[in-house]
Amino acid sequence: MAVRFVIVGGGPAGNTAASYAARLGAQVTVVERDVVGGAAHLWDCIPSKAMIATGGAMSFSRRAHGMGLADLQPALDVQAMKSRIAEIEGRLNRSICDLLDDQGIRVLRGTGRLLGPHEVVVETSDGTETVGADAILLCTGSRPRVPDWCAPDGDRVLTTRQSYPPPSMPEHLVVIGSGVTGVEFVHMFSSFGSDVTLIVSRQQVLPNKDPEVAAALEDEFLSRGVKLFKGARAVSAEREGDEVVVRCDDGRIARGSHALLAIGSVPNSDGLGLETAGVEVDGGGYVPINHHCQSNIAHIYAAGDLSGKLPLSSVAAMQGRKIAEHVMGLHTRDHRHLDYDKAAQAIFTEPEIAEVGIAEAEAFASGRKIRVTKVPFSASAKALINDDPRGFAKILSDPATGVVLGGAIVGRHAAELISVIAVAVTAHLKVTDIVESLMVHPSLSELLADAAE
Ligand SMILES: Cc1cc2nc3c(=O)[nH]c(=O)nc-3n(C[C@H](O)[C@H](O)[C@H](O)COP(=O)(O)OP(=O)(O)OC[C@H]3O[C@@H](n4cnc5c(N)ncnc54)[C@H](O)[C@@H]3O)c2cc1C
Repeated sequence: MAVRFVIVGGGPAGNTAASYAARLGAQVTVVERDVVGGAAHLWDCIPSKAMIATGGAMSFSRRAHGMGLADLQPALDVQAMKSRIAEIEGRLNRSICDLLDDQGIRVLRGTGRLLGPHEVVVETSDGTETVGADAILLCTGSRPRVPDWCAPDGDRVLTTRQSYPPPSMPEHLVVIGSGVTGVEFVHMFSSFGSDVTLIVSRQQVLPNKDPEVAAALEDEFLSRGVKLFKGARAVSAEREGDEVVVRCDDGRIARGSHALLAIGSVPNSDGLGLETAGVEVDGGGYVPINHHCQSNIAHIYAAGDLSGKLPLSSVAAMQGRKIAEHVMGLHTRDHRHLDYDKAAQAIFTEPEIAEVGIAEAEAFASGRKIRVTKVPFSASAKALINDDPRGFAKILSDPATGVVLGGAIVGRHAAELISVIAVAVTAHLKVTDIVESLMVHPSLSELLADAAE
């Protein structure tokens, strides 16, 4: 009899696991209360990147004179941007639903929770249904963290989910939080022409990133007129008439037309019935997993944001794939576990930022000997042709073996370019493998061969 695999949550973790497991012969049910494709499609990756793409087009148009064009002064059409986002989301949603349908996967619309170790109960619009399972995957994602000192009203005090786009475009946006999400929203709204103040709780934006990378972004923000409140923690955000007033713990006050909260997320583990099946959660509400993504109950897996690992769509999808293989008994002794340290990550700002593997500051701090080569974009013919010589690429390798350990790229198309270094890191390639690859000329990839020299 086919393995009955029940998945709660149809985001990147859930739909990838479903598709792989069905291909391998499982009888799969996906329980989804909202949109198949998940928060990733509806609230996070897709709408944010679609708005950033519009902002990027505006910002590049403003630089058109550098390409030998007459100056362009683009104006934002908010309705057109909104329709564009809906169109992209609709297409992606249809393609996932069609794929699941073609593979005979049952999508059960409703809210699921564990009823015991081998049962999931689903509240649907028609009542409740209980589904039996040999294996269960919990991948219910996360939602924006809202602190008790702030009450988003969806009008002027916003979470990220209320900002695609907000009901009125901010004249002056105060962004609270300078991690990846915060800086992407600073970039987005400053590209649209809003004034922006960014509350940075530490001494640099992107506190967990390479200081050199963070400094490049701060320079760009300052050149756009973004005001940085460094070393300040917001303690309240309140509406006063048409203003939103954000007070900080050091007495500073930021005033804007709108405020946006970007201070992380919390896992959707409440109400999942974890206790009825004996599934452990940690202090933050995440479900701890082992290297096969199993919870403390062997046939109950967790993935994506719920698992408390790297909160990325790409990671969630890869976990889903590995789980499907494990459920179907496809893992062998040389089965490669997911190595979270080798996940390529990007920040969609201008300049774009991407990193993979070991970070330079972290390697030096740990006393590890590494070889670093850094080249500026201005050395690339293609960067000059693009009229965008801002940024740099650096590759980190082991001085004894030449094996590529990581890299960082700041500059146009960094998110695409990092793939070359990501493959090298995963496949343990050497710097000579990159140097001897015949890259297209003129292309930005040539920079990577230079950085590997
Ligand atoms: C603003 C923002 C931008 C981001 N941009 C990127 C990016 O560019 N690239 C990237 O890789 N990552 C990005 N991320 C992170 C990415 O969105 C998440 O890591 C990813 O969505 C996690 O996938 P998931 O499968 O865990 O869950 P989700 O995508 O959150 O999906 C979970 C699904 O479970 C459903 N669900 C929840 N509870 C139940 C229940 N009880 N019953 C039934 N269904 C349920 C939800 O409706 C949802 O559809 C971004 C995050 C944010 C906040």
